[in-house]
Amino acid sequence: MKLTDYSGDLMVARGIGYEGKPIAQALEDSEQIFRQTGCYQGVRELPLKSADPIRFEKIASRLRGALVGARETALNISASPIVREIGELCFGLYTPEGDSVTLSTGIMAHIHTMSEAIKHMVRSGYETNPGIADGDIFINNDPHIGDVHTADVQQFVPIFWQGELIAWAAGVTHELDVGAAQPSGMPMGSTTRFEDGWILSCEKVGSKDELRRDYQYRSQTATRMPFYWVLDEKCRIAGCHLVRKAVLSLVEAEGIDTFRQFCREAIEDTRRSFVTRMKSMTVPGTYRFGSFIDLNHSVDVGRMPEHAAVDTLIHAPLELKIGAEGSFDISLEGASKWGYHSFNATPTAMQAGLWVALTQTLIPNDKVNDGAYLATRLSIPHGSLGDPDNPYCSNTLAWGYMVPTYTGLMRALGTAFASRGYVEEVLSGIPLTGNVTQGGGVSHYGQEMAWSNFEMSCVGISAGYVKDGEHSCAAMWNPEGDMGDVEAWELIEPLMYLGRRLRPSTAGMGKYRGGSGWESVRMLHGTQRQELYNLINSRVFCSGGLFGGYPASNPYRHNVKRTDLKERFAKQLPYPVADGNPEESGIQANVSGEHLRDHLMNRLSDTYEEYDLYLSVLLGGHGLGDVIERDPTKVADDLNEGLLLPRFALSAYGVVATQGDDGKWRVDGDATHVRREAIRKNRLARSVPVTEWIAQQRPRVEKCDFIEPVRRMHRESCELSKKWRSEYVEFWGLQQDWNA
Ligand code: MN
Repeated sequence: MKLTDYSGDLMVARGIGYEGKPIAQALEDSEQIFRQTGCYQGVRELPLKSADPIRFEKIASRLRGALVGARETALNISASPIVREIGELCFGLYTPEGDSVTLSTGIMAHIHTMSEAIKHMVRSGYETNPGIADGDIFINNDPHIGDVHTADVQQFVPIFWQGELIAWAAGVTHELDVGAAQPSGMPMGSTTRFEDGWILSCEKVGSKDELRRDYQYRSQTATRMPFYWVLDEKCRIAGCHLVRKAVLSLVEAEGIDTFRQFCREAIEDTRRSFVTRMKSMTVPGTYRFGSFIDLNHSVDVGRMPEHAAVDTLIHAPLELKIGAEGSFDISLEGASKWGYHSFNATPTAMQAGLWVALTQTLIPNDKVNDGAYLATRLSIPHGSLGDPDNPYCSNTLAWGYMVPTYTGLMRALGTAFASRGYVEEVLSGIPLTGNVTQGGGVSHYGQEMAWSNFEMSCVGISAGYVKDGEHSCAAMWNPEGDMGDVEAWELIEPLMYLGRRLRPSTAGMGKYRGGSGWESVRMLHGTQRQELYNLINSRVFCSGGLFGGYPASNPYRHNVKRTDLKERFAKQLPYPVADGNPEESGIQANVSGEHLRDHLMNRLSDTYEEYDLYLSVLLGGHGLGDVIERDPTKVADDLNEGLLLPRFALSAYGVVATQGDDGKWRVDGDATHVRREAIRKNRLARSVPVTEWIAQQRPRVEKCDFIEPVRRMHRESCELSKKWRSEYVEFWGLQQDWNA
């Protein structure tokens, strides 16, 4: 979106920045000096850190401690399980120009989005209109300014010292409902931004530490769950005020000049350490990975506009170029075009995804800030999902494009670490986070409501180079994630948990397997009408494992309408607590009714009623290394722990195991050896040279003999990137005038 040029407004007599400089001028100067010197604020030496490193560390710890403390304290004000149980919030401290200095734990993705939002206010002349004063409160959830989706609501509080703006405190929480056309925080099926809910574009909503009454009134009526909106907002503001208090007391103790110098050195220090890490931990080169997302809106014909009710296969490739001098360039050339669906991101959202991926790989310590942003470059084709040329596209499920894209970064870095010998750092990608259980309708309290269940912030973690992944552990976007207690979700959602357990064979197999995914079986309770979504890739794998490891298994939908559960309970008959092995489905066996069993996820909601059943399959992590190199005793362990369906021990791992009278699985070493040798021979017999395979497939590629969603994916990638098209044409040996 084009912003109005407010530069005329910047001609104020005295600004609120250092020595009366307008902050927009300070931001412009900062960017110019970085372009000229390559150092943040032109800081070539780190005098504070060099002269007294202990004092430097103490200041860093004090600020970081204040942010983590603010988060831990403030989350108790919120009533939403997403914030309280999952910890889906984060606080950050920024320079007056909007550069991140330090952050708390939590949804760290947002540290850079809030930086973009502050810079938007600074560049747009907020200093003069609406004004930035001590005690002001600003709010933002506009992904085109600085956010991922409207569900993430941010609050900003400027910090003043003797009339000068010295910093910003900011906090973000994820909301259960945002007043979108469809219920829940991240509804599926919005085709434009106008259906994405209440959008607040860096609005000033308070002064003198009080929210404006007109805004408060609006927030009572703008979403389906005002109770959570209001308490989450109090949580964010309280956290920002705690951060402000801590900063002012630090300035009191250390002096304002030291604080200013610290902020500059902290950012420059992180930038340098990022470059050093790149040089020492990776091998320079070009690393490329592809990912895919399937949307199944053709089943929504009649419920969506005709142009939106189509199936789509999204291409989400990533190329990482590491230079010998430690440069870090990401390119998303080849990405699909934005669409009339909810999976579009924005450039600031893409920065958020990059940020949170880096905090779990290259900078897994407490020294994270915008220095890392300054050390990286991200290029996104204009018009693609990461930088739509339509400012009105919907963004509610931007993570649905971001997670697949950045699993490519995890795999690229994993390969780069392994090449350098840092094998402990390798992760074979990240699984998608889902199924996303969301819905709305009449609640068990008899009120119109909406909800987003965040147990999907706990999925299996992928395998490493030297170890298996952790089960039901965390999400890419919130590494501190938790699944939340069932009782907490049952308080706000009219669905009882009948069971929640690890699922066998959800993890990607490999020499090292991913951590297991899990499942929840839920029954509608106390409601006659709920709209429920099933959101996750299902028809295609999002990405592969690494170094021959298999991807995590894909989930599926198995919900049951018009069940006999009421009668079963009355007669004390068995009821399903798990689906487990889909070939011997626990749901199929233990409930009668209309079974909806398919791979059509990522679609509009369906309507359910009391005693209907809903299955949520949460993903496992991807595998690493060749399956037939897995230690057979580990395969037996997986069988004994119920993590692997027995049929895959033989068919995939080539492990011959038998179950003893005690129920324990034991490996037959000799038979396993013979079986694995046979698998090796069979692989050799089946394989063909790559050149042969390419020649065999080329006619199909030449004619673009694919189903329509795949053809369209090719067409869009070619249209948006000449580079991608020419490499594709070259790879397949196609005519120069080839068209998808
Ligand atoms: Mn969010």
